[in-house]
Amino acid sequence: MKVTDKFNIDDFVRESVKGLKPYSSARDEYVSDGTAMIFLDANENPYENGVNRYPDPQQRTLKTVLANQKNVSEQNILLGNGSDEVLDLLFRAFCEPGMDNVVTLPPTYGMYKVLSGINAVENKEVLLTEDFEPDVDKILETIDLKTKMVFLCSPNNPTGNSFSSSKIEAILNGFNGLVVIDEAYIDFSEHNSWLLRLSDFPNLVVTQTLSKAYGMAGIRLGICYASDEIIQILNKIKPPYNVNELTQQKALSRVDDNDAVTSEVSKILKEREILIKELQRLGFIEKVYPTDANFVLAKVDDAEKRYKQLLGLNVVVRNRSSQPLCDNTLRFTVGTPDENKKLIEVLTKISSP
Ligand SMILES: *Cc1c(COP(=O)(O)O)cnc(C)c1O
Repeated sequence: MKVTDKFNIDDFVRESVKGLKPYSSARDEYVSDGTAMIFLDANENPYENGVNRYPDPQQRTLKTVLANQKNVSEQNILLGNGSDEVLDLLFRAFCEPGMDNVVTLPPTYGMYKVLSGINAVENKEVLLTEDFEPDVDKILETIDLKTKMVFLCSPNNPTGNSFSSSKIEAILNGFNGLVVIDEAYIDFSEHNSWLLRLSDFPNLVVTQTLSKAYGMAGIRLGICYASDEIIQILNKIKPPYNVNELTQQKALSRVDDNDAVTSEVSKILKEREILIKELQRLGFIEKVYPTDANFVLAKVDDAEKRYKQLLGLNVVVRNRSSQPLCDNTLRFTVGTPDENKKLIEVLTKISSP
């Protein structure tokens, strides 16, 4: 028997959230069937300008398209103002402030720690192993009765690698709590999304975003996929109009144009290979880590010095040295062919003494 055989989402919901009824907005109470109606229910300005009406609080059109593309039901989707809002909703729904804890695996995305701080939830850190894989035994030892969520970022930021599937599966099977897999970079990866396994694990939550491969960081759209029970709970606490009308329209036109996204992703992947080869030829670069994302982490001789040299030549990269296991590392996002060429020129320049 697996520990998740007795998984019951009601055991994880905060007391204050259990009894909540979601705020019922005007747009929730009356849903148009397409008949021409006169809307006098929401105190809007009646003169049309494209955004004078409140947006659909359930973003139905966008969810229908996503559900079709990802082969899940609309009831398995929650949309938010970036994945950052989605992650925050998870904390607020499932973690009792001052009592519960979550487990995160540094070096990883900084927002998990920030959000646990904001929500007064203890963040138990279990370092990745030297090859940047989850330390499954340590994670399972660290988990206690107050652990509500484990955050796995795969492909991981800033290391770039995807975690081994068998390790992720061991955590899903070994932890009777929510396992949140952050797939912000999944579209750059050769690995399958864990979305395909949604029905196998009642405790699985997958988050994705339009901020990276979809090229829409500016509109703020994050996506949460989970069981309909979990989604229902998140729906109870989300702000009614958390995804604005302009975002819904922009997102819709982008997800409808999958070919454009795919073609940009394949250009970025080609450039990533070129960039990796060039980085490996430079004397001051000691190691280029394998990557499954649209960035490359590299160990250099002196990260602070190289970072400043690049900045002086108008190239901004990220110094990740403050993160555990990431001493003297720089993270390079893959740019356009032109930008990458300039990056290599500048790196070559600072490479010769
Ligand atoms: C960039 C990134 C996100 C994106 O967050 P948004 O709020 O959707 O822009 C999420 N997770 C990770 C690991 C990231 O690197």
